[in-house]
Amino acid sequence: MQDLKNTKVHILLMMQVTTTSNKLKEALIPFKSKGKSIGFVPTMGALHEGHLSLIRSAKKDNDIVVVSIFVNPTQFNDPDDYRNYPRTHERDKEVLEEEGIDFLFMPGDEEMYPGGDRTLLDFNAGNLNKTLEAAFRPGHFEGVATIVKKLFDIVMPDRAYFGQKDYQQLLVIRRLVKTFNLPIKVIGGPVKRESDGLALSSRNVLLSQAERHKVPVIYQTLRYYKAALEERAFKPQVYQEEAKAYLKSFPEFTVEYFAIRDAETLEEFNETQNPNSAVLLVALHVGKVRLIDNMVAYPKLS
Ligand code: AMP
Repeated sequence: MQDLKNTKVHILLMMQVTTTSNKLKEALIPFKSKGKSIGFVPTMGALHEGHLSLIRSAKKDNDIVVVSIFVNPTQFNDPDDYRNYPRTHERDKEVLEEEGIDFLFMPGDEEMYPGGDRTLLDFNAGNLNKTLEAAFRPGHFEGVATIVKKLFDIVMPDRAYFGQKDYQQLLVIRRLVKTFNLPIKVIGGPVKRESDGLALSSRNVLLSQAERHKVPVIYQTLRYYKAALEERAFKPQVYQEEAKAYLKSFPEFTVEYFAIRDAETLEEFNETQNPNSAVLLVALHVGKVRLIDNMVAYPKLS
């Protein structure tokens, strides 16, 4: 009897795929009116274990899980990156069905930017929209904030899940939610990695074999300087420069930044502060691929 009951529930809640915001909103109304909680995981597809870990957290915490797949043109500052971004929609659908999510939202460009209107959200993220990723990818966070706000307005979730892999993005989203007083709890999930430490990313498939062989050094460098901050004298400026020089010594890499910052504000970090935590962040190009990674550290003051 119990089994039959579960089967029925499963059939009723099979994954629904929608491409329009109105259909998705309509489909969610009965659940919302019954007080069911909605967990939302926005993605650009080409799903991997990093995405799935967020989806599993969302399933654990909520009655209903909505995942979106949309390769958002306004957050790409490099047209080649947008063109080459892996798109594996059919496989993604199968994976999500297996995960047992409830709704997959797969809008096209016209649905998210009607009439080709790419007006960006007017939103002041302060230093978060000036430094590091924002400096090297002009317009990136304007595009991210715009699409996430649109998606939040459609789904109106109780909880939204973002990976710490995109550390600065997570801080921007928290700020977005605060600025617009959105009743959404933002939950950050840990960085998922390959067994050799490479952070999972949809772009990893674009690495050549030789490049793939080299890139675990990013993880090793982060780990080394995290340990240095935590175990030895507190010298963030020195470590920052040392780490950058080390990564630059690999001819395969073009390093954009290696930075040790306050984990909450991404402001510079110095010996006179006594922060709870620091974050080490890195961005570099290897061949045609741009990789980012980070690690949070709990430094001991000397
Ligand atoms: P994307 O499809 O790249 O926009 O990523 C969708 C969500 O998955 C974002 O919140 C990312 O931060 C998160 N994510 C991507 N890679 C990882 C990873 N290796 N570990 C954890 N979360 C990740």
